[in-house]
Amino acid sequence: MSNKTILALAVAAVLLGGCSEDTVEVIKEVEVIKEVPPVVVTQVKNVILMIGDGMGAQQVGLLEEYARRAPNSIYNSMGNQTALSKFANAGLMGLSLNAPHGDSGSLVVDSACSATQLATGVAAGSEMIGLDINGNIVETILEMAKAKGKATGLVSDTRITHATPAAFAAHQPHRSLETSIAEQLIESGNVDVLLSGGARVFLPSDIKTDLADQALMKDLGMPTTSFGKSKRKDDRNLILEAKADHGYDLAFTKQQLAALDSNKILGLFANSGMADGISYTACSKDNSCVEPSLRDMTVKALDVLSQDPDGFFLMIEGGQIDWAGHSNDAGTMLHELIKFDQAVQAVYDWVKDREDTLVIVTADHETGSFGLSYSRKNLPEGKFLDGDGMQGREYKPNFNFGPLATLDKLYAQSGTFYNMMSAVDSNWDFNGTTGQEWADVINQYSAIKVTAEQAEQIPQREVNEYQVPGHKYLNASEFPKIVDFKEFYVYGDELHGNLIGRTLAADQNVVWGTGTHTAAPVPVYAFGPMGVIKQFSTMQHHVDLANKMIAALIEP
Ligand code: MG
Ligand code: ZN
Repeated sequence: MSNKTILALAVAAVLLGGCSEDTVEVIKEVEVIKEVPPVVVTQVKNVILMIGDGMGAQQVGLLEEYARRAPNSIYNSMGNQTALSKFANAGLMGLSLNAPHGDSGSLVVDSACSATQLATGVAAGSEMIGLDINGNIVETILEMAKAKGKATGLVSDTRITHATPAAFAAHQPHRSLETSIAEQLIESGNVDVLLSGGARVFLPSDIKTDLADQALMKDLGMPTTSFGKSKRKDDRNLILEAKADHGYDLAFTKQQLAALDSNKILGLFANSGMADGISYTACSKDNSCVEPSLRDMTVKALDVLSQDPDGFFLMIEGGQIDWAGHSNDAGTMLHELIKFDQAVQAVYDWVKDREDTLVIVTADHETGSFGLSYSRKNLPEGKFLDGDGMQGREYKPNFNFGPLATLDKLYAQSGTFYNMMSAVDSNWDFNGTTGQEWADVINQYSAIKVTAEQAEQIPQREVNEYQVPGHKYLNASEFPKIVDFKEFYVYGDELHGNLIGRTLAADQNVVWGTGTHTAAPVPVYAFGPMGVIKQFSTMQHHVDLANKMIAALIEP
């Protein structure tokens, strides 16, 4: 009850009652209440920011449809409720615009710019890490938290040096400078817990051949299978440096991470990106996973960071939702969304009875212009309904609005489009491959089947009319042939994956509009004290969202 309401009631009591003694009593009570301002909590001890990279409203919709309505949904045993929807029920929701802001002059955001804006509350430019629009270094919420004596952590299922985690603790003119990002992450002293993939930018250039280096790493517990090709151009071994010079304890496997008792951890579980959602689902079934899951890393980070009496800041990224979106791979994207949701569940379990923590779950942008859609293929059969409004007329919609069983078929996909491409040719040399070869491989991995004729578009190539010499992707003279919106398909040979997506799309009731990102506002889930989360229930921009988080965590 607000003070104004109480005052109004008091006045009403005076008017109605008219008894002088009672009136004095009520007025005294009003005066006492007026002197005590309402207590609104505006600060929190901890902030947990979860970013589903590429997880726009359409992606959330796919997860929710699967969880609630797929006939054989794995959520059937969990009340058909996602962890995301638990946060929606327990907290508040909003939307957030995410374009490069202010003077950047661009409409569409990439993950580096978006994460920088989320980390700093300052407008940033495309593909920059931790810099403002003029290229100046900007303090991030993670660095502010560390300066306040709080513990800090970054968790991602991509690489720890990938754009999203990097933007919270590194400052570089371009996201591709991952070797320098790795140096900044361990040298800054700002991040207590670093859990992800990306060993290739920490290991010395000759790790594949230098037996002495390999012996050193084996002594530190690194499995020999992890010695992939290094991306470094020098002999620095940042993993050794992290341990010897910066006090990090190391983990390279799920078991090592679980066993580690330390408040400063560098966990590198893959040479490049960590396991995709489909392969993680597969190894979970027989407990054979070597890498920790996003959920395992989340649980460990919470265990470690919550021991700091000053509180903590933790960013957790489900980074491969975006990767599946880029390759227009709906089955893999569903598994990535489930993988992320399992980490969200771990955060929900940890936080649900607390009042000292703000949780924000959001995305940096939408990827793929994805949607479930209705079509003119596979029209439904007519049938007669009992309803008294049917007037004897058959129930027969004009179009295919998408059967629910499609959701189970998407989940049943047993390999990513990249797995399929590698099965067709391990060197990704698709010259001369046939529709039959592609159809055979797709049908081996996908519950939705295609014909050789349908698959004939996949090996098609054409001259790259947008060739740019020296460009990482556009240098190629030939590109896979995308028929429509081809300018939005930019990643060279990887686009054969997008062509698999095009081949399956009609029978998945799925459409894709781009191989890059769209500028749609993304969902925001906010959980915590009402005085803190109320402000997130609006249409905001990520720059504002960041400033609200910073204000709540860092007392002025
Ligand atoms: Mg990312
Ligand atoms: Zn992306």
